[in-house]
Amino acid sequence: MTIPASRPDMAPVVVIGAGVGGLAAAQALQAAGAGTIVLESSARPGGRIVTMERAGDRVDVGAQILHSSYRCASALMTGLDLRQHWRPVRGESCYSLQGSDPWIGSDAYVSPMGLRANLALYGLLLRVTLRPPPLHEIRAATALDAVSVADQFRGSDGMLSKCLLPLLCSAMNVATPRYTSMQHLLHILRITAFTHRYALPQGLEEFPRRLAGRVSVRYESPVASLLEEDGRVAGVILEGSGEVVRARHVIMAVAPHQASALLPATLAAQKQFFESVIKTPQALPVFFLDRPLPGNVISYMRDPRGDPCFWFAVDNTRKAPGMVKSGKSILTLWTQYPHCLELERLTDTEVTALALRELQVLVPAARAEWVEHVAIQRHEFSHPPYAPGAYRAVLEFMRDAATIKGLSFVGDIFGGAYMEASLRSVSQAVKRALTA
Ligand SMILES: Cc1cc2nc3c(=O)[nH]c(=O)nc-3n(C[C@H](O)[C@H](O)[C@H](O)COP(=O)(O)OP(=O)(O)OC[C@H]3O[C@@H](n4cnc5c(N)ncnc54)[C@H](O)[C@@H]3O)c2cc1C
Repeated sequence: MTIPASRPDMAPVVVIGAGVGGLAAAQALQAAGAGTIVLESSARPGGRIVTMERAGDRVDVGAQILHSSYRCASALMTGLDLRQHWRPVRGESCYSLQGSDPWIGSDAYVSPMGLRANLALYGLLLRVTLRPPPLHEIRAATALDAVSVADQFRGSDGMLSKCLLPLLCSAMNVATPRYTSMQHLLHILRITAFTHRYALPQGLEEFPRRLAGRVSVRYESPVASLLEEDGRVAGVILEGSGEVVRARHVIMAVAPHQASALLPATLAAQKQFFESVIKTPQALPVFFLDRPLPGNVISYMRDPRGDPCFWFAVDNTRKAPGMVKSGKSILTLWTQYPHCLELERLTDTEVTALALRELQVLVPAARAEWVEHVAIQRHEFSHPPYAPGAYRAVLEFMRDAATIKGLSFVGDIFGGAYMEASLRSVSQAVKRALTA
């Protein structure tokens, strides 16, 4: 990135949000010599990157996986002495499908799905290889943006449309095929099928924690609204105290629904865009078992045809053995949009009871009585799922947002999901802030 010279005589750049996106923006601004302050509503850095600790064992209960295509994350982690710790994630999947015994194997050929479904999936992968979409950014909305995965494959081979694609969309996009556009499916297939996966044995939260150590962050300082003066954003107003923090430029690095709450009525189109992003809250049950599960299974996939609440589970001990000193299995159970909305309404006790009821079908090797400890990790928002039309909406938003004076945006919504997309969006926001 070419960084314009900063003007130290001016008010600081204010970054709202100490997730990786906001922290990376603050670090780039600071490197350019611009005074910068990050305002964070909670008491910790990291946002949706959370590592839980229990009796010396660690488990990532927010962002899980780093991909080899993560150039921004890789460069930042190199500077933080974390890149050398990336460890490959290797293992098998277990499929529990109706009418057949649990099947364990590599995802390269899912035997119980049958030859036709597997071939159809390879056809899809070929399409990604021949016409690769750009990674971690949205450059164009093609005709495939307008069609859902469910509609595209309606009437095709039952195992593909009723099992394989729902599981893929759920695991990669946290939404069912009806709420995933074809363009987005191809985008995330390219990220997940053609890149290597890595975990960080320290826990991914170490990444934002180290970033936060290098910049100036004010915790427990929720921003209530933007300060507008003479047709431009001139700062922010804090919740509670009403303190005004003046800024030469504001970078909003929060999740979509949090951004819509902060935007004033004068930015109605932008507010409406963020409101239109499907909200995907997560209540993630984390089961600490009293023993390791056998084999080398990382993910457990359940038959989605019965429309259960939890469609897949991850054995975090197999995924990242370096994080779990005890060696005992730690399972996380995952739901997807729209089921995740049901969990949002339930108490932790109710979510636990539901997850325990479904545990044995989802993870045949586990027993409810082996669960030593349960925790529920809640996220207000997990990933932006890209329903039909979403890429077009993002592009229109970005075009118009570039004309707003004093305000820029950072977030995973601008690049097609995952933390790398949030980090990719940083350079544009930082450029605008430095030329303000
Ligand atoms: C369960 C789960 C699994 C995931 N798995 C992966 C994965 O495997 N790989 C991957 O790459 N990505 C994954 N992600 C996505 C990844 O975590 C996000 O893309 C990334 O963390 C987004 O970072 P961000 O800084 O843009 O936003 P956030 O992390 O959401 O940070 C926003 C920050 O803003 C703060 N904030 C909000 N409102 C205000 C306000 N009014 N005033 C001040 N501060 C405010 C919040 O407290 C938060 O700290 C996952 C996410 C979840 C939830």
